[in-house]
Amino acid sequence: MIHVVGGGLAGSEAAYQIAQAGYDVTIHEMRPYVMTGVHRTDKMAELVCSNSLKSVDLKNASGLLKKELRDLGSFVLDVAYRHAIPGGKALVVDRESFSDEITSILKSHPRIKIVREEITKIPDNDIWIIATGPATSDRLYEWILSTFGGGAYFFDAVAPVIDANTIDMSKIFFGNRYDDGKDYINCPMNKEEYLRFHEALVKAEVLPVEEFDKKLLFSRCQPIEEIAKSGVDAMRYGPLRPVGLGNFYAVVQLRRDNYAGTLFNIVGFQTRLKWPEQDRVFRMIPGLENAKIVRYGVMHANVYIEPYRLTDEFFRAKGRNIFFAGQITGVEGYVESIATGLYVGRNVVRMIEGRELEKFPINTMIGALIDYVTKTPKLQPMYANFGILRRNS
Ligand SMILES: Cc1cc2nc3c(=O)[nH]c(=O)nc-3n(C[C@H](O)[C@H](O)[C@H](O)COP(=O)(O)OP(=O)(O)OC[C@H]3O[C@@H](n4cnc5c(N)ncnc54)[C@H](O)[C@@H]3O)c2cc1C
Repeated sequence: MIHVVGGGLAGSEAAYQIAQAGYDVTIHEMRPYVMTGVHRTDKMAELVCSNSLKSVDLKNASGLLKKELRDLGSFVLDVAYRHAIPGGKALVVDRESFSDEITSILKSHPRIKIVREEITKIPDNDIWIIATGPATSDRLYEWILSTFGGGAYFFDAVAPVIDANTIDMSKIFFGNRYDDGKDYINCPMNKEEYLRFHEALVKAEVLPVEEFDKKLLFSRCQPIEEIAKSGVDAMRYGPLRPVGLGNFYAVVQLRRDNYAGTLFNIVGFQTRLKWPEQDRVFRMIPGLENAKIVRYGVMHANVYIEPYRLTDEFFRAKGRNIFFAGQITGVEGYVESIATGLYVGRNVVRMIEGRELEKFPINTMIGALIDYVTKTPKLQPMYANFGILRRNS
């Protein structure tokens, strides 16, 4: 029997690959009985923060990874493309309908059973895939640590989502950064507005997060207030850069969060500001003076294991029939998590069938990513980028 712990992006992909190959698989998902600090629903493959799966451009590493995954028959990406909403060169999805379809396909699959329960330890029998993600429940993570040793974590944050009806459309314009599209809402700021906003942001009250001060932040997902604290112009060269949008001092961009265009998230505004402070400070952005935040930004510790010490190159725990997939392996990002789910799902099938396990070439994005996270001691979470791509030697 095959078990997948966690019905997130990686678990959904792995389970589907196994079921489609003709094997019975049980997904153990703890939501809604035990919720994580970042999920809001009981749906499979919930997108916990941004609804963007990043670029589809083949000159972009994430675009290349998506192309490879589509060629390999990724189920989750296939559904994502069916639920795409306008997002310029990015694959942006309606998060609700996307997760609804994944849930419904998995639920109705004759070879998949979904059991709603928290798994706190892995039995010795059967084949198990641990795909419990960055918010793995404490009890299971403790079991992993006590069984295998090692492990690490870093902090990650979620950006707020705004009710579009509460945006003052007279102060904003629609436009994409590098093309003629009109997918994003842009809130331009003059110098005075920017400096006032910057000052309020750096002085705003933040929620205390245990061990946050160790600065275990992932550099690509810095909270906006941390970027602001690093220098008065840092935001203008980061998420508020006006380049490609016009001759402005700074621009805050909002990305569509659903098909209907009734919800927008503030791009790059991951935060650990206290909720009343989010209302107060983000309403200083032109056009957002009366904005209603329907989902506040939050901060969360992401846990991951060290595959270099704990697993082989197939994410299989040394000496056990336990595999790891998703962000818990030390990859970072939605598409990267889907990629490891696909990799592990396919290899579990091969293992059952007595076939040699499959590695992807290191001159592919998926192969380079897996090679990097399985072979790097003292791993820091890694996402698809051309820096890790290698030529075959
Ligand atoms: C705060 C935050 C913001 C992020 N923002 C982005 C972003 O904007 N863009 C991006 O590309 N990536 C982002 N990420 C990374 C993204 O979450 C992950 O890359 C992706 O969701 C991980 O997929 P996964 O399948 O590994 O885990 P998940 O999608 O989290 O799925 C894991 C599942 O396991 C379940 N589970 C946990 N423990 C147990 C247990 N013991 N028993 C049973 N079930 C269990 C959980 O309920 C969950 O459903 C963010 C992560 C965090 C934490």
